Amino acid sequence: MHVLIVEDEAKLSAYLKRGLEEEGYAVDLAHNGHDALAWARTMHFDMIVLDIMLPGMDGLAVCQALRERDIRTPILMLTARDTVDDRVVGLDAGADDYLVKPFAFKELLARLRALGRRSTEQEKSTVLTVGELSLDTATHQVTRDGQLINLAAKEYAVLECLMREKNRVLTRDAIADHVWDYSTFNESNVIDVYIRNLRRKVDDPFDTKLIQTVRGVGYRISEDAPLE
Ligand code: CA
Repeated sequence: MHVLIVEDEAKLSAYLKRGLEEEGYAVDLAHNGHDALAWARTMHFDMIVLDIMLPGMDGLAVCQALRERDIRTPILMLTARDTVDDRVVGLDAGADDYLVKPFAFKELLARLRALGRRSTEQEKSTVLTVGELSLDTATHQVTRDGQLINLAAKEYAVLECLMREKNRVLTRDAIADHVWDYSTFNESNVIDVYIRNLRRKVDDPFDTKLIQTVRGVGYRISEDAPLE
């Protein structure tokens, strides 16, 4: 189980990460809403633990943005404010459950186990397709015409990003935003390198080229004719 924890309080997030890792979870941390959104849009997580109070974009906005993009990863909201209103707002925004701070670690584990069961059920359809190319966000397996394609982690992330937005043109900056942590990486020209690698593996052996360059804008993946 791969969990994304979104919490700006360094002490608490480190404590949760350590605790969950001891329980066998794989854990990534995001410390603000923007990073959380970028990570969750590009990588597959089984669950997201999302604090409401975050600098900049708050947890409710992150939750809403994910659901609007059809990302259905189960979300457990953390709220420090124990009011009925907040709980309702959290669930309205598309969260699956909430936990009021301060909470017992045991309680968090129980909630995550319950969400994990639901997540496993939802994972039945995690396959994105473009023509005969398919990508499974649960297993990270990529095939074209039934042939397995081996991708490096970042190549996979770039491809998943394009496939989630099939037929739409994405700028290099948009792809970089989704694939790298915003604060540690902002060189969008490196995207060209990954696109080149992807083309070699995904398109070169086949007649139809799915990864298209849109001059002056960026890239898109589509089985339609290239845009003029
Ligand atoms: Ca917080």
